[in-house]
Amino acid sequence: MTSSARHIAVVGAGAVGTISAIEALRDGHRVTLIDPGEPGGTQAASYGNAGWLSSHSVIPPAEPGVWKKVPKYLMDPLGPLAIRWSYLPKALPWLIRYLRSGSTEAKIEVTARALRPLLKDAPSLHKRLAEEAGVPELIERNGVMHIFPSRAPFDADLGWRIRKRVGIDWLELSADEMRQREPELHPRYTFGVLVEEAGRCRNPGRYVAALAELAVARGAQRVTAKATALKLQNGKLVGVVTDRGEIACDAAVVAAGARSRALAASIGDNLPLETERGYHVMIEDPGVGPRMSMMASDAKMVVNWTDRGLRAAGTVEIAGLDAPPNWKRADILRDNLQSMFPNLAKDIPASRIKSWFGHRPSMPDGRPCIGYARATEDVVYAFGHGHVGLVGSARTGRLVAQLLSRREPEIPLAPFSPERFL
Ligand SMILES: Cc1cc2nc3c(=O)[nH]c(=O)nc-3n(C[C@H](O)[C@H](O)[C@H](O)COP(=O)(O)OP(=O)(O)OC[C@H]3O[C@@H](n4cnc5c(N)ncnc54)[C@H](O)[C@@H]3O)c2cc1C
Repeated sequence: MTSSARHIAVVGAGAVGTISAIEALRDGHRVTLIDPGEPGGTQAASYGNAGWLSSHSVIPPAEPGVWKKVPKYLMDPLGPLAIRWSYLPKALPWLIRYLRSGSTEAKIEVTARALRPLLKDAPSLHKRLAEEAGVPELIERNGVMHIFPSRAPFDADLGWRIRKRVGIDWLELSADEMRQREPELHPRYTFGVLVEEAGRCRNPGRYVAALAELAVARGAQRVTAKATALKLQNGKLVGVVTDRGEIACDAAVVAAGARSRALAASIGDNLPLETERGYHVMIEDPGVGPRMSMMASDAKMVVNWTDRGLRAAGTVEIAGLDAPPNWKRADILRDNLQSMFPNLAKDIPASRIKSWFGHRPSMPDGRPCIGYARATEDVVYAFGHGHVGLVGSARTGRLVAQLLSRREPEIPLAPFSPERFL
């Protein structure tokens, strides 16, 4: 350790925590990585996500006029966005902020301009990390496709106009070009957008597990425990309290995904972090499927090949951290997959279909919290990445290390400051 090196406790071993640990080790710090589960295990959003390294995903989820759809979200528990009635009173303050933050095109553009530098080059950053971790085959940089029933919904989507303004390019595909590229896709999709700069991960859980192994090989200590609080003394961090005892440290990174809120609250920061619950289905050996990774505009789900089969992932359910999953939502993803690819067998045995659900850690404005706690610069927050936590984790890890070492952050951090909510 150099003289400025510190002992850093990284709380949470998802994509954000493990990459933060690697980058802190690179700076010469001593690192302890704390998680009650296995890194990249099913408890983490980083396990079950769609695997898109979509550097163009700069548009926050809420859009102008979306408040008009709230009654529909409440009435249809199986819709692409559903809000459980029983959770509404708890979610309301977050929902109001969420609707407000997407209420005008100008507000959305502010977020897009903030997210662009966070996500730009992410496929290359992840490729380099995967190479270091000995799993380069898990990261591919050959683009992703958005598919539409016609050109009209694409033209009507202000998100694409804003993407153009922030410097994102794409290729537009006619029905014929789509057919040639994707012969198995249902012919009702007649317009496509190919974003060549984007990439994908072939197994996000395995990728995160390999990143954690890399951190350990470089000297990080793994502790299997649940952090319950951060402990300050005279304005300085002295330790992380866990269910297995206290871990003394000089600094901490809060990267516990959707469960970060209580840790920030333990040192006085009440941040509006909510879970946008999502689901996936995985079909082993499906036989048919897409050639490229694609997102269907109507089904609001991503279809991605993994090294274990075809994964369909997406949709949002607002129902809190504790309510049991509604597995019918995963069944709908499977049905959508069969409707997108008519040659996909209808009688795939249940043993070859796996369902998962997990928690996107989401701030209402679609921007993560990356910055110091109010009480002390010994604590760095790195959570709330919502729909872009896998793609955004590579640069976030670098920013966390820059904050810990008090170096100039490589991109402007004001849009991600936790202070915007405090
Ligand atoms: C269906 C779905 C599809 C998605 N698709 C994409 C996509 O294609 N591309 C993309 O970029 N993003 C996608 N996302 C979002 C992405 O998965 C998340 O933003 C990202 O994984 C968050 O990473 P994280 O490290 O912050 O949190 P997590 O991966 O959730 O990790 C948090 C870790 O903290 C641990 N933890 C929790 N509490 C404590 C505690 N008290 N003490 C210690 N440890 C604790 C947990 O056990 C967990 O391991 C998707 C999400 C879902 C649900």
